[in-house]
Amino acid sequence: MVVCYLGLGSNLGNRHKNIALAVSKIKELKRTQVIKISHLYETKPVGGPKGQGKFLNAALKIKTSLTPYKLLKALKKIERELGRSGTYIRWGPRVIDLDILFYADRFIKNKRLKIPHPKVFVREFVWRPLLEIL
Ligand code: ADP
Ligand code: MG
Repeated sequence: MVVCYLGLGSNLGNRHKNIALAVSKIKELKRTQVIKISHLYETKPVGGPKGQGKFLNAALKIKTSLTPYKLLKALKKIERELGRSGTYIRWGPRVIDLDILFYADRFIKNKRLKIPHPKVFVREFVWRPLLEIL
């Protein structure tokens, strides 16, 4: 098992419910346990189309023995189950966004996966909840 940090965000529909549902689905993942959950942070959207609603953001500390790619796949499945649509608007509104922020001490940089997630270093809505649970 390795320690891993996830970022969660939602700005469409019932945001509290979306985050709570995502957390409960992450808890149900095989070979994975949730260790800590940050508070929810309400943040203004950065970039993307004008007029989109505020985000709720949170961070999770988990332990997992899934590989980074298996974890990514599982998180994408949860995003789909929660109704995130396939059409992608860069920085646009989303029911749920699940990002792997850190995976142990791994550094990965390719088309499919970037760890640490680049948003960690530039977006307050990512690093603030993360700092709370380190
Ligand atoms: P955002 O960058 O706003 O989170 P998306 O959630 O739409 O955008 O992610 C786009 C793609 O980023 C995903 O299809 C995924 O393959 C890729 N990706 C790269 N690194 C990561 C990571 N660390 N965590 C989650 N997705 C990642
Ligand atoms: Mg994402």
